Amino acid sequence: MIEEAMLHITGMGVTYPNGVQALKPITLAFRPGEFVVLLGRSGAGKSTLLRCLNGLVAPTEGEVRVDGLGRLSEPGVLRHHRRRTGMVFQHHHLIGRLAALSNVLTGRLGYHSPWRTLLPLPRADRLVALECLDHVGLKDRALTRVDELSGGQRQRVGVARALAQEPALILADEPVASLDPESAAEVLKQLRDICTADGIAAVVSLHQVDLARRFADRIVGMANGSVVAEVASGELSKALVDEIYRAPAAPAPSPAVSRIRPGPAVSAQAKLPGENPKAKKPGVLIP
Ligand code: ADP
Repeated sequence: MIEEAMLHITGMGVTYPNGVQALKPITLAFRPGEFVVLLGRSGAGKSTLLRCLNGLVAPTEGEVRVDGLGRLSEPGVLRHHRRRTGMVFQHHHLIGRLAALSNVLTGRLGYHSPWRTLLPLPRADRLVALECLDHVGLKDRALTRVDELSGGQRQRVGVARALAQEPALILADEPVASLDPESAAEVLKQLRDICTADGIAAVVSLHQVDLARRFADRIVGMANGSVVAEVASGELSKALVDEIYRAPAAPAPSPAVSRIRPGPAVSAQAKLPGENPKAKKPGVLIP
């Protein structure tokens, strides 16, 4: 057990209501300031694990405990933990018609009561948001609409939004899967540098071995809902990579899942500069 960990996962497993066992019981811990990559192919359970770390998915077995706060299943703990946890998504979840600065400002909402968020946020919050845009090298694009930015720039706005929360932890779910290799390395390097400089812990899911080796402190290799490797990035041997990627495909989805198809709004989306057209797109469930 890692003594000084900020997050402890103990015997945590997830079986979705359709019967898919996405995570078999796992025990892991994450240290403050550590940059951890969850490495594995699609369906390995990386996203489910990340979502459990922010209470977006509730484990069906075991628990997540936050150091100094308690069990994540307790609403008060979850609320506190979420305020200091920034999320970065593959499809960044930004509002395209709004300026970069307005999007980053949404990262400050957790610091205000719901009624206060109906009014423009204080100048102090706008300054924090601007500083975060500066951190990712986009201060000069603060007033540019997000839908006028490149794929890589959008993802950097997503990182700035997470930073605006002044987080102790950043959870990033395939943050560079939609980007070309050059933009992907650039965004990850920036995220890594900022986390190191500011002492922010990060748990980042990736499927690219080279990027994991280059940026992680520690790599957690996943296959079929289990942790099959847990090593410092310099110790990721070819045998371990084979273990992570050789594993047979994840359990067959139930009929409800196999009816997932790409959402029309997504498939109609034009490719942006810096975007990888082969990246996996989010799905919608056919009613
Ligand atoms: P990864 O992030 O490594 O691609 P996921 O955690 O998304 O893996 O998926 C792990 C398994 O859980 C897959 O078999 C996937 O189809 C299934 N799964 C993911 N989300 C759901 C859900 N909401 N309902 C049912 N099954 C799901």
